[in-house]
Amino acid sequence: MTTRVWQAVDDRRDAVTELTRALIGYPTINPPGEAYQACAEHLGDRLRASGFDVQYVRGDGQVGDSDRYPRTNVIARIEGKRPGPTVHFNGHTDVVPVGRGWSYPPFEGVVADGRIYGRGACDMKGGLASAVIAVESILAAAPDFAGALEISGTVDEESGGYAGVGYLARQGWFSRPRVDHVIIPEPLNPDRVCLGHRGVWWGQVETFGRIAHGSMPFLGDSAIRHMTAFLELVERELYPALEARRTDMPVVPEGAQSSTLNINSIHGGQGEIEPGGGFPSACVADSCRVILDRRYLIEEHEADVKQEIVDLLERLVAERPNFAYELSELFSVQPTMTDADAPVVRAVDAAVERVIGRPPRHVVSPGTYDQKHVYRFGQLEQCIAYGPGILDLAHQPDEWVAIDDLVNAAKVMAAAALTLTGSTG
Ligand SMILES: [Zn+2]
Repeated sequence: MTTRVWQAVDDRRDAVTELTRALIGYPTINPPGEAYQACAEHLGDRLRASGFDVQYVRGDGQVGDSDRYPRTNVIARIEGKRPGPTVHFNGHTDVVPVGRGWSYPPFEGVVADGRIYGRGACDMKGGLASAVIAVESILAAAPDFAGALEISGTVDEESGGYAGVGYLARQGWFSRPRVDHVIIPEPLNPDRVCLGHRGVWWGQVETFGRIAHGSMPFLGDSAIRHMTAFLELVERELYPALEARRTDMPVVPEGAQSSTLNINSIHGGQGEIEPGGGFPSACVADSCRVILDRRYLIEEHEADVKQEIVDLLERLVAERPNFAYELSELFSVQPTMTDADAPVVRAVDAAVERVIGRPPRHVVSPGTYDQKHVYRFGQLEQCIAYGPGILDLAHQPDEWVAIDDLVNAAKVMAAAALTLTGSTG
């Protein structure tokens, strides 16, 4: 049965190329969320013509949703001929802004040397097209499949996915009994299966001072100097501690197998030179803010991640005259890692080995993606990312995906779906 389906995939080499190109043609740039509706309808029309039930769900009232920029998600489902588990393929339709340095037009899907170039080719319209071709090949060559197949095209992954998979998962679209296994064809390289991601904790630290004339700073109290004291402690103590903390998660690249901290931004004082504007007034800064982007390991706990920041700040309160601060938490995501023995992992592993001739490497993503919502809101652990693109090309100029990889990924997804729905053997 699988061989027949793979033949059907091979027969659709041009179709997967054309679908990838068509999806790239919608400039679904996020922010602000351009062309979501049209892109969702393209997918919906296509899948309805293939026999799917198609529904559109708008992320009403979610961040970024408006009549000008509706957060339109599309979900398609088709039942098999006998009962069995449901396999869901989820891809995000949004892409990041184009940026500079392109030698190809970013929204035309130029084909050259066996590759398709364009914004989203790799991340992840190619993966979405592969999933569509995988299920269409099953419908054509194994119409008596068991269980059910679903495909969704969802919005806003690049900005957290709250109006996309997050919104849908909170409403039960990614939970049992509706869905049993989720495969997200993000570009993690064709020979790797991604089991999950590290955790995230974002916080803002604000230090306070007292405003005074800049010519007599001794009459005030500089919030920037207080912040400097905090950042010195971070530099001297926290960074070495984080680097020494290693995980058993197979995170790629290897540098991300430690805990990490990015000081996302820093703003202090009132002075700001507007483009073409005037000169800042002479004042001592009475406020300084930093935003911390902390990525943590499955061996760590979110409460401790926060507490070690608090401990540094409290030490300064005790040791440094007039040190005052406020810490606010902005955002957090738990780390997640699907068991390597889970059925969805084993099915995809076996399919990769059959298609490319060697078993895949299991990896974990340094940053989060929509799996977090499936895990947290959907309470579904049977979720992985596997897709055709090359991770390093994501978000870059001249992003591309190889047509051979699209075809191979479609074969892997089709074979895994047949196994997981109980259609084979
Ligand atoms: Zn992506």
